[in-house]
Amino acid sequence: METKLNQDSPKDGKNLSASAPSGSDLFQKIVSHAKEYGFVFQSSDIYDGLQAVYDYGSNGVELKNNLRYLWWQAMTRLQDNIVGIDAAIFMHPTVWKASGHVDSFNDPMIDNKDSKKRYRADQIIEEKIREYALSGQKDAEKSLQEGLDKALEKDDLNALRGLIEDHKILCPISKTCNWTDVRQFNLMFSTQIGSLADDSSTVYLRPETAQGIFVNFLNVQKTARMKVPFGIAQTGKAFRNEVVARQFIMRMREFEQMEMQFFVRPGTQAEWYEYWKEKRMNWHLALGTPASKLRFHKHVKLAHYADAAADIEFEFPIGFKEVEGIHSRTDFDLKQHEAFTRKKLRYQDPELNQSYVPYVIETSIGLDRLFLLTLCNAYTETEGADADGGAKTRTFLDLHPALAPIKLAIFPLIKKEPLQELGMKIFDDLKFDFKVFYEEQAAIGKRYTRQDLIGTPFCATVDFESLEDQCVTLRYRNTTEQKRVPIAALRDIVQKEISVSDILKKI
Ligand code: ATP
Repeated sequence: METKLNQDSPKDGKNLSASAPSGSDLFQKIVSHAKEYGFVFQSSDIYDGLQAVYDYGSNGVELKNNLRYLWWQAMTRLQDNIVGIDAAIFMHPTVWKASGHVDSFNDPMIDNKDSKKRYRADQIIEEKIREYALSGQKDAEKSLQEGLDKALEKDDLNALRGLIEDHKILCPISKTCNWTDVRQFNLMFSTQIGSLADDSSTVYLRPETAQGIFVNFLNVQKTARMKVPFGIAQTGKAFRNEVVARQFIMRMREFEQMEMQFFVRPGTQAEWYEYWKEKRMNWHLALGTPASKLRFHKHVKLAHYADAAADIEFEFPIGFKEVEGIHSRTDFDLKQHEAFTRKKLRYQDPELNQSYVPYVIETSIGLDRLFLLTLCNAYTETEGADADGGAKTRTFLDLHPALAPIKLAIFPLIKKEPLQELGMKIFDDLKFDFKVFYEEQAAIGKRYTRQDLIGTPFCATVDFESLEDQCVTLRYRNTTEQKRVPIAALRDIVQKEISVSDILKKI
């Protein structure tokens, strides 16, 4: 039996026995796995943690770097009209007035007076809609969905409150309907820059990386000599004081975004929006995420800057959740920065012989959510028999070799010379090409298991025969198949599998 998240979901009932874990149990297993095997830790763990802030461990940082690298290559190498930048986290405070974040980067929140817990009003309503859907109450589901869409469209906080009351939505902790009014809550973190602590020194931790691109639009266009249509890509930290921060690295207060703003001629934004929707979906498919687990979700309520927007959602064990947004941001941001700075942010189009403020299509993906998606896709349990015929579960991470934190582990069969020397010689020879790991402790089976759990695609065992035939036993993670291969061939075998070009060619 194989519990393989990148095939069919638990609710499809395939590949899973009656004892297969439920979606949230599976999610919990993945969260525990991430901590136990050095992928993600709670921030300040020894101080009981800081809510919704996480650190990446030794394997996590490698996986995260590999994912970021793939995105960066897909954006800046495959597209000759996209270049990168790395803007600072702090920006002039007026940037956030111009962008609209000071006035309207808000979430509607509501408190339960009995439990004193705070919730996002739209999210507890969405939860209720899911509950109606699961219990087959179609009419209630439809009417609540319509009510929510209408209230969000009009920013009507009283209407949201009304829906919560009418549908008797209870606080999951206190089980009461004793709610406060719905209020808006600004998600930006602020701090003071310099030694004077007054209003003029207030700066914000950027809530999105996009504005660093907009304010550099002309700098980049001129110095990189870009012609519209062209894009600017950037990866970096963003900060949001989320009202409710749950579900592990899905919703964090400090997270990383990978964003690309694509500047186009006014009037062509609709076709470029469709182009980038398709391109980004292909990118997810090229990384190996099955099409059945991905879908688009069109926005009903558009952000103040957008004329069209859709999310790419992935089916996590706990349901479909947003991973990436594709937004047609119009010329809003550049025009606002023009208005606030009184400086022109225009492009002189040599073909049209016209000057204009370009329209923008944005692709914005959360690196941490992509990381979680990758772990969920990779987490695999297979059931076989142990030596006594009893049931035995093998767990491994079926990571694409290009993403795996370690590419090849080298094991001398026993902790003795001259096997150690030959093992270290192979390690020293290959370490310049990819991430290699050497280990001589513990039984060989145990060493294989440790690598399976972190997704290492290959293990090479050095034995006494190796001294004679200059071969090692190469073990493949997914199949556990073992093959005798020449030491001299190891580099090519691994290089071929970890190459990102096969992935990039599929996009
Ligand atoms: P959500 O509706 O889930 O709050 P959003 O629509 O506000 O997300 P965007 O502003 O479009 O998100 O940001 C782009 C991407 O950044 C999202 O698709 C998501 O992957 C990621 N992201 C946004 N907020 C967070 C967060 N608090 N923690 C982790 N990733 C986030």
